[in-house]
Amino acid sequence: MDGKLSATETVRLTEWYSKNWDQHFKCPVCQSDKWQTGGHVVEMRPFRQGGFAFIQVISDCGYTIFLNASVMGVLDPLPVPAAPEKKDG
Ligand SMILES: [Zn+2]
Repeated sequence: MDGKLSATETVRLTEWYSKNWDQHFKCPVCQSDKWQTGGHVVEMRPFRQGGFAFIQVISDCGYTIFLNASVMGVLDPLPVPAAPEKKDG
């Protein structure tokens, strides 16, 4: 994946926003509601397992939130990584 959504994923994302996003949700810092959706899926890597997210940025102050793409149902859930093999010796 290069951060761009497939056509199916784009439909899922659009449907998620139409069902879940409050157009009047205000930034907790500056109280603006001028959110802009980032054009890419970004990857976060806490410890060993990655997570994919969408960014919402408020244009007035730069406050940013992350929405987990798998929890939103836009991307398929991440596979659980195999445990590393232990080496003898
Ligand atoms: Zn703000």
